Amino acid sequence: MPAPLEPVFVGFLFFAGLSIGSFLNVVIARVPEGLSVVSPRSRCPKCEQPIAWYDNVPVVSWLVLRGKCRGCGTPISPRYLLVELLTGLLFLAAWARFGWDWPLVLALVLLTFLIPLTFIDAERWILPFELTLPGIAFGLLVRIPLGLSPVLGGLKGAVLGYLVFRALEFFGWLAFRKEALGAGDKFLMALIGAFLSWRALLAVVFLSSLQGALFGLARLWLTGRAGPTAPEASADPQAPPPPEPAPPKMSWAFLAPGLSFGRRLLLVPYSVLLQNIPDDPVDEGGEEVEWTPEATNLPFGPWLAAAALEWLLLGPVMVDLLPVGPVRTVMGF
Ligand SMILES: [Zn+2]
Repeated sequence: MPAPLEPVFVGFLFFAGLSIGSFLNVVIARVPEGLSVVSPRSRCPKCEQPIAWYDNVPVVSWLVLRGKCRGCGTPISPRYLLVELLTGLLFLAAWARFGWDWPLVLALVLLTFLIPLTFIDAERWILPFELTLPGIAFGLLVRIPLGLSPVLGGLKGAVLGYLVFRALEFFGWLAFRKEALGAGDKFLMALIGAFLSWRALLAVVFLSSLQGALFGLARLWLTGRAGPTAPEASADPQAPPPPEPAPPKMSWAFLAPGLSFGRRLLLVPYSVLLQNIPDDPVDEGGEEVEWTPEATNLPFGPWLAAAALEWLLLGPVMVDLLPVGPVRTVMGF
């Protein structure tokens, strides 16, 4: 690409990121409700006035309207601004890492799946199959231009990612007779494996459990809760219940993978918190009862997503900073 034109293309990439972020806000709001992301047009949830195109410009409209609906003044969540800016900035970060090369496309498609999954899991404790399953397929498709061996690496990554978390789930069940990992985490791990190949899996498990544990402990200590409370019940009693039957569960057993690496570091909080693993949500009659997150529960999807992006965008930097054997082994370089 001619050098003088590069800033134009980078600016275009940033604006594309903001616009895709705007669309991802729709995905975050609608996919967990089982609604179409295409129609109807976005409306204010309060006064139901359709949102005009000039009030739907990424970032600018939110700032002009100061986060309020033009019709009725209902506050619009700052999440809309945050997701747009985050998507734009991460698109730039992917360009800074890969330049104008095919892996940039892989990174942008991966971001388009990981960003909504992160926000949906953080708010609602679910990783919808409507996103994870197509994500696995896109991960494999986007590797095709890289060659046969990268496609097979992605396939291995998807299968191994699923199996590793399936095994963790099984051992969690053996150890605690409880479901240790959310049902959706296996499929998110398969998605990450499909995009990044099996080489990334060890680093993703390690980075996500370490960071999730530290964040969860800090938040538990500061606020008395590691994760958010259960999503609020729909205000309208006539509204149909959300289609997702049982929210995935997460407990401190997710520390298990971190333990094998940093046993001494994590053993103390782990043993203390084991007492807080939630009761089995299946009652004596064998019926699933409504699951509500305990104070020590933490949605794990955002940490898997963050670890995947760290590996993809910062992996070489991390290995350069700590050029020792174990770091190389964990990072798969
Ligand atoms: Zn309104």
